[in-house]
Amino acid sequence: MEKLRRIIIGSNASIFQKIDPDSNIKVFTPTNELEINEAITFARENNLPITTKGGGSGLSGACTGASRKKVVISAMRLKKVLELNFKDGYAVVEPGITPDELNEIIQQQKANWKFFIAPSSRDIATLGGILSTDGGGNDAWLAGTMVDNVLAVELIDYNNNKIIVEQLEDQKDKLKVKITSENKELEKKLQEANFSLMDIAGSQGVLGFISKIKVEIKTLPDTGELSYAFVHCDNLNAFGKVIYDLIENDIPLTYGESIVQAEHPDIATKTNPPMFIFEYPRKYNDKMIEIIKNIPSTTFSKVDLEEFEKIKDIRINMAKRNPPEGYQIALFEGYGIYGENLLRFEEMIKEINETLGKYRFLPFIKFGHAPSLWHVGNEKIKGLIMHSREIRPTNFTRDLVFNGIVDLVETCERLGITPKPEHKWPFSKTTVKHKRLTELTKLLGTNFNPFLLDCTLEELSEMVF
Ligand SMILES: Cc1cc2nc3c(=O)[nH]c(=O)nc-3n(C[C@H](O)[C@H](O)[C@H](O)COP(=O)(O)OP(=O)(O)OC[C@H]3O[C@@H](n4cnc5c(N)ncnc54)[C@H](O)[C@@H]3O)c2cc1C
Repeated sequence: MEKLRRIIIGSNASIFQKIDPDSNIKVFTPTNELEINEAITFARENNLPITTKGGGSGLSGACTGASRKKVVISAMRLKKVLELNFKDGYAVVEPGITPDELNEIIQQQKANWKFFIAPSSRDIATLGGILSTDGGGNDAWLAGTMVDNVLAVELIDYNNNKIIVEQLEDQKDKLKVKITSENKELEKKLQEANFSLMDIAGSQGVLGFISKIKVEIKTLPDTGELSYAFVHCDNLNAFGKVIYDLIENDIPLTYGESIVQAEHPDIATKTNPPMFIFEYPRKYNDKMIEIIKNIPSTTFSKVDLEEFEKIKDIRINMAKRNPPEGYQIALFEGYGIYGENLLRFEEMIKEINETLGKYRFLPFIKFGHAPSLWHVGNEKIKGLIMHSREIRPTNFTRDLVFNGIVDLVETCERLGITPKPEHKWPFSKTTVKHKRLTELTKLLGTNFNPFLLDCTLEELSEMVF
């Protein structure tokens, strides 16, 4: 049974699948704070690092702890809703609950209330994991990312110090928080270091075990009547300009998705990319038409709900389809293209495709949430989060896959494409987030998921399946 637990706990959604199950020295599945403390104490007494596992849906392999000897603490049995407060609009939950599970409980009491962060993986990703990757859904444009929806976090560090970080009630600033801990010396040091909710967001499990989270819950917005439209572009620079101008005009789209490239004949003939699928409040109809009319090489088509749903369905299911010949692979998730780069969209795609070509990966499909929103460091970024699938070469090897990924990370860093380097590729040592997390682990202990901050490329490449 213990052996089976070690094997199962190593599985995850990333390309980094090859983990030695024997490196998971002990697996804990605590159900309460006492058991979390016992798991941490075991690791400390045996001088082992700890990797926390949520739903295993992260795409960077961060929840694996690599093949280093370690203790794994899984949040799978920490699923309780501890408090639901509709008057003040919050829920206090344990970290292992998923957005779907939380929303089911909320809606049993009030059907029109919701916790808003819903990544496509909302049925498996846990709130602790989503906070640790600062995830968002395709409604991030309106709802923000996880950190925008978090009010307080309880964290337990490697020395079993409990630290509570709470947003100040009178302001929404995630950098201005109240920090409390029974360890007053640590409390003071964290205050002096300006430790904040922004630090915990996207921290990939290196600061400690997130044991409780207080999140905002809200009523569903009253958008009034909705309109539906497709926007087609003759070229990719026009496509980027559409996103750029929608952001500039702050249009409150309730659904914004795009198909950037589709080399599948079936998808291409039905959708004619590059194209957008939009849903927005009807009162913004004139504004939408005016914005699009002013962008050359662009066509706006108002559609009915049935046509909208048909193309939306093709877009949602795109990633599940293989090319007519061969197989697809997702080498790299989550290209964040924003700012002036949107106006050079053609060049961005050309550079990405050229990098893929060096490793014989053929571009297959590219699609994404647009406009969307994410954080880089403490900065809020607005742009397109684009996903990509490639057709893999017949004789592909582990080295080819890994070298391709590393080259794509370098291409992104050179072009200023994010969030991959910080959000989905947390191993990159050149980022501000990496530096900040390294500093904070000096205060909180360096034994939570240390491989994330100090692994080598060789170690990562060994993990590619
Ligand atoms: C099909 C699919 C669709 C996806 N769609 C989206 C999307 O739309 N938007 C998006 O943002 N992401 C998306 N993702 C990525 C993924 O779901 C997120 O990264 C998710 O937030 C990770 O949550 P998890 O519980 O699975 O965490 P895991 O993968 O288990 O862990 C992720 C990181 O969090 C740490 N961690 C987990 N729990 C805790 C805790 N309690 N305390 C401290 N550290 C912890 C782990 O150590 C690890 O570093 C998708 C993934 C898949 C497979």
